[in-house]
Amino acid sequence: MTKFDLNLIAAQNSPKLPTEPFVARHLIDGRWCDSQDGAVFERHSPAHGVLVTRAAKAGEAETEQAIAAARKAFDDGRWSDVSGKDRATLLLKVADLIDENRERIALLETLENGKPITQAEAEIEGAADLWRYAAALARTMHGDSHNSLGKDMLGVVLKEPIGVASIITPWNFPFLIVSQKLPFALAAGCTAVVKPSELTPATTVILGELLVEAGLPAGVVNIVLGYGVPVGAMMTTHSQVDMVSFTGSTAVGKAITASCAQTLKKVSLELGGKNPQVIFPDADIDSAIDAIVFGIYFNAGECCNSGSRIIVHQDIAEEVTKKVVELSTKVPFGDPLHPDTKVGAIISPEHQEKIHGYVQSAIDAGAQASIGGGALEIEGLPGQFYGPTVLSGVTSDMPVAREEVFGPVLSVIKFRTLEEAIALVNNIEYGLSAGVWSENVHTCLEFARRAKAGTVWTNTWMDGFAEMPFGGFKESGAGRELGHYGLEEYLEVKTVQMRIGRTRSPWVQ
Ligand code: NDP
Repeated sequence: MTKFDLNLIAAQNSPKLPTEPFVARHLIDGRWCDSQDGAVFERHSPAHGVLVTRAAKAGEAETEQAIAAARKAFDDGRWSDVSGKDRATLLLKVADLIDENRERIALLETLENGKPITQAEAEIEGAADLWRYAAALARTMHGDSHNSLGKDMLGVVLKEPIGVASIITPWNFPFLIVSQKLPFALAAGCTAVVKPSELTPATTVILGELLVEAGLPAGVVNIVLGYGVPVGAMMTTHSQVDMVSFTGSTAVGKAITASCAQTLKKVSLELGGKNPQVIFPDADIDSAIDAIVFGIYFNAGECCNSGSRIIVHQDIAEEVTKKVVELSTKVPFGDPLHPDTKVGAIISPEHQEKIHGYVQSAIDAGAQASIGGGALEIEGLPGQFYGPTVLSGVTSDMPVAREEVFGPVLSVIKFRTLEEAIALVNNIEYGLSAGVWSENVHTCLEFARRAKAGTVWTNTWMDGFAEMPFGGFKESGAGRELGHYGLEEYLEVKTVQMRIGRTRSPWVQ
């Protein structure tokens, strides 16, 4: 393999590095509290190695209290009885507070996760937009009426909040993902127990502070810090919880579905993806190359929407691979605190090993690394970084082509016909997103219809809007977030049938 000069950004010696850790506590029934047994866990920056957060570590006792608080708050109507107008006012206030605290939230997001600071700031801005959008839904949601059931009958379909929602979030977009769930649950009138990943608890705690500042009644949102077991597991099995909204791995998503089956809770799942971009010979190649590079390196590839497979027509495969490699060398990898950095650190050493395991196994099976394939050293930083990696000669049976690598590793697969491309797209367990690049509208539309994926992008990649639903087909999930569908997840449907006058003929004569 040729050695490439990469665009690496050395350590900044930034004054933004913390000298004291952020202290994170549980929010239960409106009070900030430590764990009864005093247990804590710590999070160090994956790029800089410094201590960022010291968090209370919940056990069963704190989880039980949080669920009980959410249950009581729901049942006594302190939030579900509030008008849509007043719920919206509060959600808008939270959005303003998020904007006011953007820099502080973004810094902690970067320090805990390793993502670039400019990206974190954009995510927090996007999260505020989701709170504003949910406020609009709180005021405009409605049921249906049926006025054609006969002269003596009126039917009304009511939408009611489902109750207590358990919200379990991952480490890759901690603030954005909780904002894809919580404001929608609150707009619906639900109460919630929230558990962030133990790797990234801080910004969810700040969100709790903002909710308190905005005047949300005690107990409506409770935050429990800790591990999947016991906290997350209890949040999915407890009889007093009505639904679970989870984002994370497909393996845990399946385990949660099995747990929820015991009490028949509703489950909403955003899981993994192995998302393809298909490039036809008539595509605008330069735009496609930029989107391929963005799609695979954004958030260091630690992204459910990562465009981790390209399926490229054999006539242009060599040219596309060469151009992707060239552009890969220009992407700034390095210190997440530098404003020019586009790709930061990998979340943990264990995860870095997992990424490398996929690359190694592909190379052992006959693939070639056209660039990358190993760890990066960034001057002055002790954390783990993985180099931009493009694997050619990948076949669709290799684990790297079928499983979620969650790293900056692109697999290049070739096709000859549209039929073959569609088969490669669909012949996989996942179905989150897919993209097509062609200047022929017929090719794009046929692809959009036949791709088994919750989102299809044509001549673009990873755009997202609060208005547009997001979720997966097949093992990529169940249910939808965002759009009005995102609100519906937190609503029950009640049918009310009303007789007009005494027109019902008696059953017993
Ligand atoms: P997990 O799916 O294990 O974790 C996601 C969340 O679920 C975390 O808050 C975790 O808690 C919690 N959790 C773990 N076990 C349980 C359980 N039994 N019951 C309830 N909640 C539980 O993802 P990881 O963080 O371990 O990442 C592993 C892999 O998952 C990644 O390599 C990637 O492939 C994929 N992933 C996919 C994401 C996506 O957006 N689709 C997001 C993150 C990861 P805690 O971690 O604190 O113990």
